[in-house]
Amino acid sequence: SKHITGHTGLLCLLGSPVAHSVSPEMHNEACDQLGLDYTYLAFDVPEEKMPEAVQGLRTMGARGWNITMPGKNIMCKLADKVSPASEISGACNTIVNDNGVLTAYTTDGVGFMRAVAENGVDIIGKKMTLLGAGGAATAILVQAALDGVAEINVFNVRDGFFTRAEEIVAKLNERTKCKVTLHDYEDPEVLRASIADSAILVNGTSVGMAPNTDRTIIIDTSMFHKDLFVFDVIYNPKETRLLREAKEAGCRTGNGMYMLLYQGAASFKLWTGEDMPVEIIKEKYFS
Ligand code: NDP
Repeated sequence: SKHITGHTGLLCLLGSPVAHSVSPEMHNEACDQLGLDYTYLAFDVPEEKMPEAVQGLRTMGARGWNITMPGKNIMCKLADKVSPASEISGACNTIVNDNGVLTAYTTDGVGFMRAVAENGVDIIGKKMTLLGAGGAATAILVQAALDGVAEINVFNVRDGFFTRAEEIVAKLNERTKCKVTLHDYEDPEVLRASIADSAILVNGTSVGMAPNTDRTIIIDTSMFHKDLFVFDVIYNPKETRLLREAKEAGCRTGNGMYMLLYQGAASFKLWTGEDMPVEIIKEKYFS
């Protein structure tokens, strides 16, 4: 077991619930593997207690922390500095504490881009169709636009996150070279046309997540084509109905598991400066 001393640094996860999270195992394993003297714990903290938690962690000199729902937006406001991606989305999943100065980052989108690249798919300069404008979808949208995806069509129901998404889309069109357009699902032909010349289709919604595994966001499977890479942010189940049907239509597919791993790896790098030994982590916790 781990040898904790007076020198051991603190990393942690804040949010509610947190008990199910794989982050403690992933980060503690990585620290053990590399001989880094940190320990990573999960703290169940509701949104209204985030300011107190941050004050405590800052006072105690924690090196950094992850934030999961429902703290991702408020944490951005509690930080002293904010990365470009977090500034655009108003959300963060990682804080780095440099001697009391807190910087907010969002690594979910970084994890997505790496997961796609590791599938051997190049989406830089290409077109993307993105379904959803919630937390995960927004992180993907912002990072993809910052990293050089040429065009992104975002689809969301109009009475959901649509208004919030409009502001983010406006910022991206102003600040990046990516051409971003927001649509609702009203006219299925708009979605079909977008998918037809996209290199990648991303499900950024929770539709199809366990226990509702019989559901899919793409009802009409004739929208798939063989040049399309279909990515689902969902990691439970590993193969959603969307991915199964896309595969049957001849598409290459990827699930959200390695996005989760690589967002962790990106946070780990920010805190420790080291590359997470991802192959070991994959084998132990993501197989
Ligand atoms: P949010 O609640 O922030 O967003 C959910 C999104 O799904 C919204 O855009 C919502 O639209 C849309 N949605 C839900 N139901 C429907 C429906 N019936 N039809 C159309 N759209 C719908 O959740 P998150 O973004 O945090 O999580 C979404 C999924 O991503 C979850 O399955 C989660 O597990 C996964 N995830 C994966 C990560 C990874 O690393 N792989 C990281 C984070 C999340 P509306 O605006 O109408 O509410």
